[in-house]
Amino acid sequence: MTPSQTVPSPPKINADGTTAQELYDKCLALAHNLWWSWTPEVSSLFRDLDPVRWRQLDHNPIALMKEFTPDRLDLRAAEMVLYSRINHAYRRLKEYLGSKQTWGSTHAGVLGARPIAYFSAEFGIHESMPIYSGGLGVLSGDHIKSASGLGVPLVAIGLFYSQGYFKQQLDESGYQSEEYIDTRIDNLPMQPAVDEEGQPIMVSMETRSGNLVAKVWKMDVGRVRLYLLDCNVEGNSPEDRQLTSRLYGGDTRTRIRQELVLGVGGVRALRALGITPGAYHLNEGHSAFGPLEVIRGRMHDDGMTFDDALREVAQNTVFTTHTPVPAGHDRFDEALVEEHLGPLRDQLGISYEQLLGLGRVEPQNNEETFCMTVLGLKLSRRANAVSQLHGHVTRRMWAHLWPWRVEEEIPIGHITNGVHVQSWLAEQMRHLYDRYFPSDWADRMGAAEVWQNIHKVDPGELWETHNALKTLLISFVRRRISRQCRRRGESEEAVEHARNLLDPGVLTIGFGRRFATYKRAHLLFADLDRTAELLNHPEHPVQVIFAGKAHPKDEPGKELIRKIANLRHDPRFAGRLAFIEDYDINVCRHLIQGVDVWLNNPRRPLEASGTSGQKVILNGGLNCSILDGWWAEAHDGSNGFAIGHGTSHVSDEITDARDGQYLYETLENQVVPLFYRRDVDGLPREWIRMMMNSIAGLAWRFSSDRMVMDYTRTCYVPAAGGLSCEMP
Ligand SMILES: *Cc1c(COP(=O)(O)O)cnc(C)c1O
Repeated sequence: MTPSQTVPSPPKINADGTTAQELYDKCLALAHNLWWSWTPEVSSLFRDLDPVRWRQLDHNPIALMKEFTPDRLDLRAAEMVLYSRINHAYRRLKEYLGSKQTWGSTHAGVLGARPIAYFSAEFGIHESMPIYSGGLGVLSGDHIKSASGLGVPLVAIGLFYSQGYFKQQLDESGYQSEEYIDTRIDNLPMQPAVDEEGQPIMVSMETRSGNLVAKVWKMDVGRVRLYLLDCNVEGNSPEDRQLTSRLYGGDTRTRIRQELVLGVGGVRALRALGITPGAYHLNEGHSAFGPLEVIRGRMHDDGMTFDDALREVAQNTVFTTHTPVPAGHDRFDEALVEEHLGPLRDQLGISYEQLLGLGRVEPQNNEETFCMTVLGLKLSRRANAVSQLHGHVTRRMWAHLWPWRVEEEIPIGHITNGVHVQSWLAEQMRHLYDRYFPSDWADRMGAAEVWQNIHKVDPGELWETHNALKTLLISFVRRRISRQCRRRGESEEAVEHARNLLDPGVLTIGFGRRFATYKRAHLLFADLDRTAELLNHPEHPVQVIFAGKAHPKDEPGKELIRKIANLRHDPRFAGRLAFIEDYDINVCRHLIQGVDVWLNNPRRPLEASGTSGQKVILNGGLNCSILDGWWAEAHDGSNGFAIGHGTSHVSDEITDARDGQYLYETLENQVVPLFYRRDVDGLPREWIRMMMNSIAGLAWRFSSDRMVMDYTRTCYVPAAGGLSCEMP
């Protein structure tokens, strides 16, 4: 030690009176509430501390802060004049957490100290928190962010996956390989949840084959607390310690055990935490065992019979179903159900047949496997699908549960999904809105009138802003593709080619989503010659950016990726196609902020809602989509493009062939001409008008603020015992 270090120096105090340690602690406090992730002033603060490391560390502020000591932070803050920004951000966080005047305080008052308990198997909040795989998770993340912003009392329950979902890489032949990486827990904004004595909370689930235990983590997402159950603890067998390590990994036994932990374990965790929910929201069937545990509690505490308790608990329960694809509904064999629910069934005092009957459309039908969606529908008084069209499909799909009712009377409504505006809106676009929208617009993003102000924006300015974002997207694509080439050991020439891929002046189409076959990523390649012509038109060229993962066991999906990724070797498509590996929230954000057109061509009516196209709207991109999911109720002829007329043939082959034709016709006759039709100033006036119509009419309708307000009014408040409001 040098002598100077042995003498404690007085704490350094900077210009505005904060010590280096205080400054550091403020940054840590900001990093420990995921509020930072949708608050651009705060995320840009972390970025500015060290832009290179910020990117390398997957935009993880806790990992970033570990690379600083208080003194180094102080030095950097001085260099960058960050003091006032840090202090301001910290003050804003405190104000946000402390504010009492919210939409929820007026509209969800009945909930009071009894929050909604929102259960979901995945939460997509930010790329640095890898506990999501795709749409369902991102929806849950957006749901709780909006609940936070609106001040709706809500706690969320999920699972902690220590390896998350896989990282995708493509080999030379375009084949997907999957890599699972251990997440460093100390880099995540999580703490063990503790009871009143400060002891870590553990929950235990009995099964016929032994006990399962889980610890409970807590995480702050703005004003919402998210609890995550984790089986990697002492007391579990080595195999069970891996139970919650991966999303949607393993076999059906893994799946039912994960769902036991999520549903039953989640309800037990809430009890251990001293939280009494006003109502339960099961986001998808994965958590549908939960209400059985709530019923057990009511029987035990209040001496109710099973039937009475079921009626009351169902009254408190809201169930959302998300898929019209049959394989999307979890089904379990009798033996697995008895192994895992047997001990709980004993306590409920119901028979083997009675329990199985709760998961069957026809309770006595031994041929029927136990279905979590059926269980969810039977244990909830309010159920909903996630778009208007999906509502029809779902009512028809489950009509036999209510054989005496006509379709319109099937008690399943719909609340169309939406996206969290602050999370998906580009900074440049927000600055534009800030100048033309009312000053409090950020607090009223779910209100229609706010967005009408887009018509006041100068068309040239909107176009310029959009083009700046498109340029950013293209440099992102070039960076990622050249990195991919380098990793595969490709020639210097190939890497160089990747560095110049795509052209900012060209109409740019984006396609990013899971590679499930019904989403038909290959539809654009039904006729390769026609596609080549479209892409290489001498005056009106087109370029396309793809991204997406296939489920590890979905070989046909992987084959689709291989086909599309390999087209880059076809000289007809050189420079006009890009496939970005490892689709995640970060890749999605870049894509939806920079594309001209977002392409969505699923086989109708299999896309329950879809949300990625809603993110595009906010940033001025246009949707070009089959009339399925949310787009079937959004498209009005002036706010984007419809592929086909919203019909499907019973034969998939015929449907695909027709839709392929429609896709080419829509692109060739509508999208491309409109994009390249310029006025004397070089502006595509009609295109810009369409962008404005899309923003004005759709941004608020398909925001998660509107969605959470709908859930609150039509489901949460009545389920918690307040006055009822009808769902559409
Ligand atoms: C928004 C989002 C999705 C959902 O989009 P879809 O339209 O349902 O495909 C999936 N994955 C990620 C990473 C997203 O951000």
